[in-house]
Amino acid sequence: MESSDKNKKGGLSRRDFINSSIRFSVIVGIGAIGAKLLTRTQARQMVWQLDTSKCIQCGRCATNCVKTPSAVKCVHVYSMCGYCDLCGGYFRPEVKELTTAAENQLCPTSAIRRKFVEDPYFQYDIDKDLCNGCGKCVKGCGAFGNGSLQLQVCHDLCDNCNECAIARDCPADAFSRVPSDNPYLFSGYDSKKKG
Ligand code: SF4
Ligand code: SF4
Ligand code: SF4
Repeated sequence: MESSDKNKKGGLSRRDFINSSIRFSVIVGIGAIGAKLLTRTQARQMVWQLDTSKCIQCGRCATNCVKTPSAVKCVHVYSMCGYCDLCGGYFRPEVKELTTAAENQLCPTSAIRRKFVEDPYFQYDIDKDLCNGCGKCVKGCGAFGNGSLQLQVCHDLCDNCNECAIARDCPADAFSRVPSDNPYLFSGYDSKKKG
């Protein structure tokens, strides 16, 4: 079984390898942000964050932040993702073909990368530099998928304003101050847990 041999890496199946790699990248990603936060804000004890379980994706996270583009970005919680071929966060509704053509994509800035994993699974990665925090993909994923795309204030970008300009106008009252040693509020996933 040549193809199954190709799918083995050091005794792990290709799927196991991909899952462990993805889990590692989420932990490392969050760890890197946490490390930056610690070095930049030794004296800072509380930071702004939004509760994804309250957010209604009104669009103000993209427009109200004092930073341009916004310090709020879409973060992909890989451990919650179904790796769907038809991703409600990636494709526009009623798309005819599941291709990466620009006209098929929901994201206005093409910030989501679709990558084939193995039949029938696809991985979706967010290019943080392109994301403006509009939340369109978050809404689409929540409506048709597992809700693994979530908006979060990225602390390596946020100025931690005394009064957050987004929090002031958030219609869902989703913003609050949270401790800087646990600065993310994902829904359905505890970032303190390993994996
Ligand atoms: S302003 Fe509030 S409701 Fe609107 S996208 Fe941001 S967190 Fe969600
Ligand atoms: S749809 Fe909006 S929130 Fe989602 S990745 Fe694109 S720019 Fe970011
Ligand atoms: S605290 Fe300031 S920089 Fe951070 S998200 Fe709010 S408005 Fe943007």
